[in-house]
Amino acid sequence: MSIKITLAGPRGKMGSEALQMIQDEPNFTLVACIDRKHDGKLMKDINTLPDLNVPIFTDPEECFKQISTDVLLDLTVPDVCYRHARLALMHNVRPVVGTTGFTDDELEQLKQLATEHQIGGIIAPNFATGAILMMKFAQLAAKFFPDVEIIEKHHDQKLDAPSGTAIKTSELIRQVREDKVQGHPDEYETIERARGANVDGLHIHSLRLPGLVAHQEVIFGSPGQTLSIKHDSLNRQSFMDGAKLAIHQVIELNELVYGLENIPYFNES
Ligand code: NAP
Repeated sequence: MSIKITLAGPRGKMGSEALQMIQDEPNFTLVACIDRKHDGKLMKDINTLPDLNVPIFTDPEECFKQISTDVLLDLTVPDVCYRHARLALMHNVRPVVGTTGFTDDELEQLKQLATEHQIGGIIAPNFATGAILMMKFAQLAAKFFPDVEIIEKHHDQKLDAPSGTAIKTSELIRQVREDKVQGHPDEYETIERARGANVDGLHIHSLRLPGLVAHQEVIFGSPGQTLSIKHDSLNRQSFMDGAKLAIHQVIELNELVYGLENIPYFNES
């Protein structure tokens, strides 16, 4: 069965990679794009987009009314992705959202809507399969090594710190790690924030530099040994295997899942 996909954000950096991924996957068919520019045109009319007879819509509701779609892949901006995902669910289109920045309240509302419509959805702040494994390995290691610090490094255009992946990693670690305040009990900072962000005694350090993409190292220490678990996204292609996997998996779901690590594929033995 071919999966019919509408892509929101085709001119973006992630959107461009996704266009290639969709065209390369034999079971995927791109049926429409949602873009705030070029309403009513075909992709082939825009010289920066591929030469395809695929219509462009600015209004997502109009798109879902006119074009039969199985999955919405959203790679846009936080301001609009909630509305896109909500409209998709209301039109029985499964959202796969890579856009970051949902609030807890928005996530809860989308979960409820997916359950009401008995339809799947995936919101994945990190599509890199290696990053998901890095988080899972870190959670496993934290059972044995309660002393741990996280260093995340991103390009200097990133607005939020720490990264969503670092926060998620710390949450997974805190689920299994014994409560502990790390470092010397009397330690103090001579320069503010020298020890990074402190989440229940676990420290997260954020670096922002041009040239970086998305990188994270989780370092565990115990007497006489350290263990480092490290993942590097070297370019945006690194996110496409996970996006492809999410599109295949969302067809099987009848609820909204937050985090690629929670889809069945990563939890089957
Ligand atoms: P980007 O290059 O800035 O692309 C964003 C796209 O969204 C642009 O095409 C932009 O169009 C479009 N857009 C902006 N406002 C819009 C609106 N009101 N309606 C419709 N489209 C609109 O950003 P990116 O690097 O591709 O990242 C896109 C998103 O993916 C971000 O939220 C980023 O954090 C996230 N991300 C996720 C992962 C993951 O693994 N899940 C990995 C990397 C990035 P204009 O050019 O007209 O502004």
